[in-house]
Amino acid sequence: MKAEYKVELYTGIRPTGDLTIANYIGAVKPLVELQKQGAKSLVFVADMHSLTDNEPAVANKFCREVVADYLALGLDPNKTNIYIQSSIAYQVSYMTMLLARHTSVSELLRVPTLKDKLKNTEHPETANALLFLYPVMMAADILLQRAKSVPVGEDQLAHMEVVRRLARDFNARYGDVFPIPAVQQVKSLRILSLKGTGKMSKSVPGGAIFLTDDLAKVAKKIKSAETATEGVMTDSLQSHITLAKELCGDPAVHLNIDSIISEHLEGKQVMGVFKDLLATIVVDFLRQFQTRRAEIVKDPSYIDSILKEGASVALANAESTLDLVRSSMK
Ligand code: ATP
Ligand code: MG
Repeated sequence: MKAEYKVELYTGIRPTGDLTIANYIGAVKPLVELQKQGAKSLVFVADMHSLTDNEPAVANKFCREVVADYLALGLDPNKTNIYIQSSIAYQVSYMTMLLARHTSVSELLRVPTLKDKLKNTEHPETANALLFLYPVMMAADILLQRAKSVPVGEDQLAHMEVVRRLARDFNARYGDVFPIPAVQQVKSLRILSLKGTGKMSKSVPGGAIFLTDDLAKVAKKIKSAETATEGVMTDSLQSHITLAKELCGDPAVHLNIDSIISEHLEGKQVMGVFKDLLATIVVDFLRQFQTRRAEIVKDPSYIDSILKEGASVALANAESTLDLVRSSMK
């Protein structure tokens, strides 16, 4: 058996609670678009990774929620298999252990995301070792599934270096075991907080719009959002423009936005008009999302069957890789 690719496009999603519209634009939409271009993908819900911050029960609770979100946001289960990472927990854990043998402590300590996290933690000495092992478990996920291409944001590039290094070293030692995964860097747009300071994030709810937000509340949040004085372009305003255009693909609406913004830059008082339009776009988007999501969760067996199918694909890939791994190490 040779080290052939099994999965064209491979990516993970985090089972954190409610998603914001920034999470949609930065993380979900690029994935849905890659899928629209015809890529057949395998997506996993990274519940074992989220044990770094969460109790298993919490991770477990959010798994189905996040799958429902992704489906309602356009991920097509006919083109993508979706599985929960822990449905192949044995294979992931065993592979992580085998790969950890070929990873030095000093290499993991040099990973920039770990360094940043430790720097920003009040008590770095209490950080758990799962955080430290993150890139190794990521390698186990990717290499078990023999993924050809892994779309990642900038923050994941250093992790992918560890993954590729591990695959090459393992091959050098044991033969042609792992096909080397390619990194596909995704440029993601950054949406700012409605308050005008920092990026929109779910841990700062005051400046965020959640996909589950009450629609009347959303319109109010937008009306009181930070914009710009007449004639001036600010980061906040630019972010609102991006938000509006990303949520509504209609070219006529884009032209309308452009013309309001040119008037604004000429010094006219049109921010009220712009905010009304933005509110309409966001509310329309959320209404459609919420309707689709309600439809999806109405029948629990729908998500069950998607996850069952995904788990069987992931298990078959993982087992065939482990067979290869075991025989190469004999
Ligand atoms: P937290 O506050 O818990 O860090 P978050 O909203 O920043 O939550 P993450 O779970 O850190 O979300 O990231 C999930 C995905 O959403 C990542 O791919 C990240 O790049 C993307 N993302 C997060 N915030 C933004 C943002 N403001 N604009 C665009 N993309 C974002
Ligand atoms: Mg974040």
